[in-house]
Amino acid sequence: MTEEKSLKDILKKIKFSDKAQVMKQLVDQSIQVKVRMGRIRHKIVVMSGKGGVGKSTTTANLALAFARAGHKVGVLDVDLNGPCIPKMLGVSGSFEILPEGAVPPVGPYGIKVASMDFFLTEKNTPVQWKGPMELSPIWLGMFEMNVIREFLADILWGELDYLIADLPPGASADKPPVIAGFLPELDGAIVVSTPSEVAKVVVRKSIVYARDIGIKVLGLVENMSGAICPTCHTPVPMFSDGCEDIATDLNIPLLAKIPFDAQIAQSSDRGILLPLSHPTTKLFDGMVTQIESLL
Ligand code: ADP
Repeated sequence: MTEEKSLKDILKKIKFSDKAQVMKQLVDQSIQVKVRMGRIRHKIVVMSGKGGVGKSTTTANLALAFARAGHKVGVLDVDLNGPCIPKMLGVSGSFEILPEGAVPPVGPYGIKVASMDFFLTEKNTPVQWKGPMELSPIWLGMFEMNVIREFLADILWGELDYLIADLPPGASADKPPVIAGFLPELDGAIVVSTPSEVAKVVVRKSIVYARDIGIKVLGLVENMSGAICPTCHTPVPMFSDGCEDIATDLNIPLLAKIPFDAQIAQSSDRGILLPLSHPTTKLFDGMVTQIESLL
C-alpha cells in the first residue's frame, strides 16, 4: 500500500462534524495568542538538537539573569514530557484560573512560570495522550500542539519585557522549530550544545532547520565546557574541542562557555539559586547584555 493510500484510509476513519465550530475556535484562539503576545516585548526560545545538554538549565538561568537586570520576565516550559523549569527555579503552586485566563505562579525576582508540571498531580507518571492507536502519531502531534497553543492563548502573562520558552529536545525533523513558529514576532533562538561531537552534529542540524523556516538564531551557548574539580576548583577539560567550529561555520555568536560544575547541578536539583558571586551567575549576566545587543 502506498503511503498516500494508507494515509487516506486512516483519514477516512475519522468521523467529524463541526458543530463545535472548531475552525472558529482555532481562529479565535490565534487572535487571542496575538493579543496576549502583543503585550510581551521580546520572545526568545531556547532550543537544542540533543536532550540533556543543559537547555532547561540555560533557560532558567537566563530568565534569572534577565530578571536581575531589572526586566519583567516570563518562562514558558514547553517541554511537555520533561517539565523541570519549576523545580530548577524553586517555583511550586498552580495556575490561578480566572474567567479571562490562567494566572501563572510567580518565582524568584517576580519571574512568571507556566509549565505542564503544574497540571501533573502524579509526579512520576508521564503525560499520556489517549487516542486511537493506529492514528497515534497524528493525534500525538495534534494534542501536543494544541496544548501549546492553549498555553499561549490562555495564560495571563500581562506586560512582560521577555518571554523565554524552553522547547522540547529534538532536531531537524522534530517539533521544536514548529513550536517556535507558534510564537508571533519571535525574536529568535538561543541554541545550547555541549562540546561533544555527538551533540554538535545534531545541534548543527537544528540550527540549519531553524534558519530554514525563518527563525533567527541569536547565539550559541556551550554548556558542560570542561568541568570544575569539586575539590580544588580548577577547570578540567572534558572534550577535545569547544563549539567554536559551529559558531564560525554557521556565523553565530558564541555567547558563553559554561563549565560542568557540581554546584550548578545541585542548585538546579534543589531549586536553590546559585550565589550572585558564582562565576556562572556572572556568565549568564554577561549574556543578557550580548543578547540585548542582538535584538
Ligand atoms: P536539557 O534541558 O537539555 O535536557 P538540563 O538542563 O535538564 O538539560 O540538564 C540535564 C542535567 O544536567 C540536569 O541534571 C542539570 O542540572 C545538569 N546540568 C546541566 N548543565 C550543567 C552544568 N553546566 N553543570 C552541572 N550540571 C549541569
